[in-house]
Amino acid sequence: MNNLIKTATISELSSGLKNKEFSSSELTAAYLNQAKKQNDTTGAYINILEEYALTSAAKADEKIKNGSATPLTGIPIAVKDNICLKNTPTTCGSKMLAEYVSPYSATALTRLEDEGAVIIGKTNMDEFAMGSASQTSYFGGVKNPYDLKRVAGGSSGGSAAAVATFTCPAALGSDTGGSVRQPAAFCGITGLKPTYGTVSRYGLVAFASSLDQIGPMARTAYDCGLLLNAISGADEFDFTAANRNVTDYTALCGTDVKDAVIGLPKEFFDADIDAEVKSAVLAAAEVYKNMGYIVKEVSLPSLKYAVAAYYLISSAEAASNLSRYDGIKYTHRSKNGKTYEDLIKNTRREGFGWEVKRRIMLGNYALSSGYYDAYYNKAVTIRAKIKAEYDELFKTCSFVLTPTTPTTAYKIGKDVKNAVKMYSADILTVTANIAGLPAISTTCGYDKNCLPIGMSLIGPAFGEDKIIAAADRFEKTFIRREAEV
Ligand code: GLN
Repeated sequence: MNNLIKTATISELSSGLKNKEFSSSELTAAYLNQAKKQNDTTGAYINILEEYALTSAAKADEKIKNGSATPLTGIPIAVKDNICLKNTPTTCGSKMLAEYVSPYSATALTRLEDEGAVIIGKTNMDEFAMGSASQTSYFGGVKNPYDLKRVAGGSSGGSAAAVATFTCPAALGSDTGGSVRQPAAFCGITGLKPTYGTVSRYGLVAFASSLDQIGPMARTAYDCGLLLNAISGADEFDFTAANRNVTDYTALCGTDVKDAVIGLPKEFFDADIDAEVKSAVLAAAEVYKNMGYIVKEVSLPSLKYAVAAYYLISSAEAASNLSRYDGIKYTHRSKNGKTYEDLIKNTRREGFGWEVKRRIMLGNYALSSGYYDAYYNKAVTIRAKIKAEYDELFKTCSFVLTPTTPTTAYKIGKDVKNAVKMYSADILTVTANIAGLPAISTTCGYDKNCLPIGMSLIGPAFGEDKIIAAADRFEKTFIRREAEV
């Protein structure tokens, strides 16, 4: 079992379950053991749901026995702690919600559980998903499995570390500006941010509602597709969830490349990117050429405005979304002060960490009457421009290929409080959220310190099946080095 959980993909585990080589109860117990063993080292989980998982696994075994199993039945999945699971805590990595127990499940989780998937724990994250290093959690930071002195990336760093340390074959994260792809890149796994609207946001605690998407994180692009098959689709509880027929997102995996053109947007490579990262991604472009893809240089001129536009829009939306934490509706309530106003002020002062406070201040400033036109409205204009530039690109390209991050995982403590530096490093991921496009990150190399390097494929809206297939083709040529845990 120990070797199995270190190598197996969802598809392999699923056939093992169907062929009765092992039961979901055995498999889940093995992953739980590994999760408990690894958690002291990496801090990947806020809550390991041992009892809950074993009960779900027993139900999954029944489902397998009576022949109604689907590809996810009996498969343990970890879930970022900003996605609600009924009757269990959902903390968002914040003191504000440390005692909060969700009264309902997110649609994505209801769908996973309807398929018989086993939710084994809630993973650590930057507070309210604001960050790129998973160091702002009230419950402590997440360490990178490849080097424990380094960050796991963020904000879904717990989910990435959970998969990379073999505590589950796959996990869910959320991505507002790169939080699925960036930690996936830092921890050497695959992460997919779906098109805005592919997955319902019902039950995902809102950070920036026009940008947020739940996304799968797994060992392979194919497995990300399997998870997406389960969680995607229209939802009566979220009218921004697209009303489309759910296709099989893995259907194009293994098919031939037909006239595919890959664009390398030059601004993404001109940005301040480490030489080793750049050369690994360019080497991947060569691999694609040898498969029969046409690779050409393209341009996204407005990339230079993307970080500013992203932080204005996301902070403005966050300021308004987080106004609900007033000491009355949710769990943290300050005991200090005498008046109603004191209650709100003190609750928010005590309950939120410094990064969340910074975003709320930035967002309220950008939305205030004297500055609205100067900041928020300009950001919205840039958003339209970036969208239009992508539309233009996709007239001649099937997708674009970029590095996922400017550097590999950096040392814990470095720059985490330097906002400009931290925010600037999101330059390569935020445009997919700004334009609502699907993007997948997979490992394409290792640097001199043996740290994983990620590359991203960004596709046209609802083109998840195409970028999953392209990432899958690359993965079949590439030998991953697992973290030594
Ligand atoms: N790093 C970005 C931020 O801090 C992205 C976060 C996210 O995608 N949730 O806002």
